Amino acid sequence: MRADVRRLLRSIPPVDELLAEDEGVALVARYSHASVRDALVIVLDRYRESIKSGETEVSFGDVEPGVIWTRVCDVLQEWFDPGPQKVINATGVVLHTNLGRAPLSAEAIRRLGVVGASYSDLEYDLKAGKRGSRGHFAVEALRRLTGAEDALVVNNNAAALLLILNTFAPGHGVVVSRGELVEIGGSFRIPEVLRAGGAHLVEVGTTNRTHPSDYRNAITEGVTMLMKVHRSNFHLEGFTAEVSAGDIADMARRGGLLSVYDLGSGYLGRKGVPRLAGEPSVVDAVSSGVDLVTFSGDKLLGGPQAGIILGSQELLHELRTNHLLRALRVDKITLSALGATLSAYLNEREREEIPVLRMIGRDQEELENRARGLADQLAEVFPGRVEVVAGSSRVGGGSSPGLELPTHLVRCTPRTSDVTAWIERLRGGEPPVILRVASGSLLLDPRTLLAGDESAVLGNFICAANSIGGDARVR
Ligand SMILES: *Cc1c(COP(=O)(O)O)cnc(C)c1O
Repeated sequence: MRADVRRLLRSIPPVDELLAEDEGVALVARYSHASVRDALVIVLDRYRESIKSGETEVSFGDVEPGVIWTRVCDVLQEWFDPGPQKVINATGVVLHTNLGRAPLSAEAIRRLGVVGASYSDLEYDLKAGKRGSRGHFAVEALRRLTGAEDALVVNNNAAALLLILNTFAPGHGVVVSRGELVEIGGSFRIPEVLRAGGAHLVEVGTTNRTHPSDYRNAITEGVTMLMKVHRSNFHLEGFTAEVSAGDIADMARRGGLLSVYDLGSGYLGRKGVPRLAGEPSVVDAVSSGVDLVTFSGDKLLGGPQAGIILGSQELLHELRTNHLLRALRVDKITLSALGATLSAYLNEREREEIPVLRMIGRDQEELENRARGLADQLAEVFPGRVEVVAGSSRVGGGSSPGLELPTHLVRCTPRTSDVTAWIERLRGGEPPVILRVASGSLLLDPRTLLAGDESAVLGNFICAANSIGGDARVR
């Protein structure tokens, strides 16, 4: 090692000496001795590495005062950030899987706050005064809303399928159309879920066309289930054919097999509520006669993460007695948020109360007014062109693939500064703003902005304009 490197390394004081400095004492009071010490060790190690690699040739005494402590604060803040944190979704993708899918209704938040902070009748039957079944609230609501005989709530839709496969199909064949072997968000793939559930996949048909005879021919010894999967995140167009849930249910019944419909997106489809293009509804799926229907709680239903299974009492009883359920069940927080979400449907107030449905249902006039309001405010602070243009939003999150909802976008085109600098600054804001970019412009879609988001977006733009630098500030 070169002598100057050794000299620089020796200039670093012992950790305990630094901890005794005023900054150290103040941070220890806020974050605990062990945490500050660990953060300091990490920062000093990085400094040591940069000396060894030749990146730094500054001795510790010459490092700008405060720099080390700023870095320690950065490490501590990362550790102590309880995350996930709120972000503003200005992308116009209503169910954004990376942004936590459905925002909950005000009533769901209220109920989970109350139930979370107190004892509850989670597994207690208040009428009988003895142990009750977990989730009985949701069961009754789901039966009334969907026409199903019985319901069961688990951790997510993947867990719902896992439980079904593990209960009814271990070691057996499950028939799925080649056109429905979907992947949802990378970690969920139908073939892998089948394998994890102990079943083996029997593929039938082709990518674009599957016929009833394909299923019939596949029904052989060892096959116990016909499964239909909703192509929830892509669109098949052209020379295509698929077999309806009703036909699959019929064939399964005749062959003495089970039929399962993985609906995924979970559009409830109550009578009198407009359909969503390309979305099969839960109500239709149940009335098609398939034995079991599954869907997510946090997609189009607009509730918390959950997997919902609908079917006969007899089949659901078998699912309830599978010991795997213990590992897949939901907690009181989820159940209270789900209960409140379902209540909105029972009251026929879902389109006003459930954020996801409200956002999907926003009309053009409202969107245009909100876009204009936001554009007027941004024009005051943004160094460049701000205008309102026609565009489209998406439902996203594994539902209504290809469906484009017309919207009005605020388009901000910086005059001189780099658009990527803007994206990064806005993403690093408080709260972070996530938006779309197209050909050198920032695009903000008012459809996915929640109450109060506009002023936060404006605040973020002001901060970004100030930090992006000289040219940005000149309007
Ligand atoms: C979203 C989706 C899943 C996975 O649901 P999670 O609740 O995320 O586990 C499975 N199948 C289909 C068809 C889906 O759309």
